[in-house]
Amino acid sequence: MMPVCKRCLLADMDASGVYATILRRIEQMPEGQRADAETYRQRLECCRGCDALVNGLCSICGCFIELRAAKAEMHCPHPERFW
Ligand code: SF4
Repeated sequence: MMPVCKRCLLADMDASGVYATILRRIEQMPEGQRADAETYRQRLECCRGCDALVNGLCSICGCFIELRAAKAEMHCPHPERFW
């Protein structure tokens, strides 16, 4: 059983190559749909400080954080909308 890692992104764990798959998905995203590098970095910083981040997933929406944050039109699903 995988240990619960609170406040870890997939980048910190690389569970079973999932992170590499997510990175490929992000790279294949059309340029216009992808968040710019600074927005992406700021979003991930918010997630790292959030109690809802568990094992690289947002426990509110169930998304892989790196993938959700990479999509320009996405937002944080928390009621306080952190990003
Ligand atoms: S609630 Fe928002 S800030 Fe928290 S992990 Fe989910 S997407 Fe990130």
